[in-house]
Order: sequence, then structure tokens, then C-alpha cells
Amino acid sequence: MPIRLLPDVLINQIAAGEVVERPAAVVKELVENSLDAGARRIEVDLEQGGLALIRVRDDGRGIELDELPLALARHATSKIASLADLESVDSLGFRGEALPSILSVSRLTLGSRTATSEHGWSVSGAGAFDSSVAPQALAHPPGTSVEVCDLFFNTPARRKFLKSPSTELRHAEQWLRRLALGRTDVGLVLRHERRRLMDLAPVTDDATRDARLKAVCGDEFLEHRVLVDESRHDLRLTGWFARPSFSRASADLQYFYVNGRCVRDRLVAFALRRALADAMHSTRHPAFVLYLELDARAVDVNVHPQKTEVRFRDSARVHDFLFGAVQQRLRDLRPEADQHRVHFAGL
Ligand code: ADP
Ligand code: MG
Repeated sequence: MPIRLLPDVLINQIAAGEVVERPAAVVKELVENSLDAGARRIEVDLEQGGLALIRVRDDGRGIELDELPLALARHATSKIASLADLESVDSLGFRGEALPSILSVSRLTLGSRTATSEHGWSVSGAGAFDSSVAPQALAHPPGTSVEVCDLFFNTPARRKFLKSPSTELRHAEQWLRRLALGRTDVGLVLRHERRRLMDLAPVTDDATRDARLKAVCGDEFLEHRVLVDESRHDLRLTGWFARPSFSRASADLQYFYVNGRCVRDRLVAFALRRALADAMHSTRHPAFVLYLELDARAVDVNVHPQKTEVRFRDSARVHDFLFGAVQQRLRDLRPEADQHRVHFAGL
């Protein structure tokens, strides 16, 4: 074949292969856009685990009418304009790829209204955006809503790889749970087939915080939790772990945040397992919701945004701190076990 430029639709579908592997990934991209838009409340509606419908509504700043079609165009973003911006980017997105990628493999409607506009406007497309179709006026509260129907309707090979609605729903729920414990300042609602699975008020005090923790981690975690607030130099660990008498059959109650970002990291898992799982059967897993804060320069944030790994500049220091902080709290709980603990920690 001769060399030729790929048509835009195909470019977007190829990008979609990376950005949108399944409904949960669409939920993630749309919700992150809502967060970037300063939303205080985000509602997610799913049908058939997101295979038939994913709708995300927010009360963020909205999109101006003349920018609405641009939001669906490739490499169009309001979040960076220069290399200097790229180096200091603090938004969750900036590549301008998510909406055009999702559109290329679904039927998508984007509706939005800014605070100063009298009503909303919407644009839509199936597989591609037709710029000859003018935006439609629509009744819409201030904010943005994106509706994604029939994911992969035009790429049957990819649709075949999707799992059952209940599995896809589980993935979306799992991601929203992580977000719920990371962005406690934002109200979150999740409905599946109109049934409310999550309804979380923004955390403003101890009661709303406990309500959120309980909704995500369950009553038992709350009953067994141990508060952590330990610092050493620039490192600070806050949050809770469950007493070792409460363990799990899988690692499903493990939430760990580094400077606000949820990560799953082997080093972290190892340090916490070493500290907590000593008294557990080898097949059991500890439960925790922990937040590590450290100097931004001590952690490499420049890893792929889809990934949940981090790279610490000095991983031994982080490991020792985590291990030590949790062991310290365990010692506080069980002074009679002190000697054994000190001995173990000194191995
Ligand atoms: P990116 O997030 O990387 O900029 P996207 O394709 O996800 O790219 O979104 C493109 C643009 O559309 C964003 O830069 C933003 O200006 C606008 N946008 C998307 N979703 C929202 C939303 N929920 N509220 C306000 N603006 C939005
Ligand atoms: Mg985005």
C-alpha cells in the first residue's frame, strides 16, 4: 500500500482504542472533565452497565455556544495553550482526546450551559461530528451533560470484548468508589437502570465524612478502623486502617492516595502488608484508606495518566515511613505486644 494520511474518523477510532477500553473508562474521562470544570456535584447514570447508556451531568462552569463543536474536535482543549502550561498542568485532562475518541465509537450528545447563558445548547454525532449541523437550543441547568449511547456500535470487534453488564457496572463502580474517597469535596450520585447505588453528599464535617466512608467501605470497616496521622519530614500519612482482626478475602478494601491521586503500587502494598498482615492468615488481605502527602518533587507524576502507578524518587524512604507509621499505631493499640513488635521491626 502507498503511504497516505489516515482520515480523522479512523485516527479517532485508533485513539479510542487507548482511551476507551470499556464503559468504566468513559465514565472516568467524563467525570474527570466535570471535575476539571469545577463541578460540586456529579451525577452518573448507567444502563446495562454502561453498554447501552452512560450519562454524566455536572454543575460545572459549562461550555460557551461557540466552543461547543470544538469540544468534540481532536486535540482541542481549554486546559493548556503552551509548553509552559504543559509543564505546570494541574488539570486531569489536557490532551483534548477524550470526547472525540468517545464520539468516534458511540452516539454522543453534549449539552451545556454557562452561568450567563439563558438556556443550554447541544451538539451530537454518531461516530463522527457533522459540523454542518448547527447546535440545538435546549433547556438545561447551568453545567454540562454528556450522553454516550451504544458504545462500540460501529466497531463490532471491540464490542465483542466487553463483558456482561454486571461486570462492566462493577468496573465503573470501583472507579467511582476510588474517586469518592479521593474527592470528598464533591457530591456524587450513581444510578444504574434508575436505581440509586451511590448518593454521597460533599464532606463538610465528621458526620458527612463517616457517612461517605461507610457508604464506600461498609459498617465493619468503620467499627474496626484505626485513625492514622503520622508525619516525618515532608512525609505525612493520614486516614484509617482496619485492625488486623478485620481482614478481607481479596484486596478490595485498599485505597491509597498519593498527593490526592489514587494509586495501586507494589511498594505501597508491600509496606502495608508487612505492617498489617503479620497477624493475618497468608490468604487474607488488610483493609485501609490512607492518604500520603509528600513533596511533589519526591514523586514522579509524569507516568501515563491511565495508569495508577507512581514512581517515588526514594522508594526505600517511603516504604520505611509507611511501615513505621502503621506499626507505630498498632503498637499504640497493643502495648503488651511491644517487645515482639520492636524485635520484628528491627529485623
Ligand atoms: P481534555 O479534557 O483533555 O481537554 P476532552 O476531549 O476531554 O479533552 O474535552 C475537550 C474540552 O471540552 C475540554 O478541554 C473542555 O474545555 C471541554 N469540556 C469537556 N467536558 C466538559 C465539562 N463537563 N464541563 C466543561 N467543559 C468541558
Ligand atoms: Mg478530558
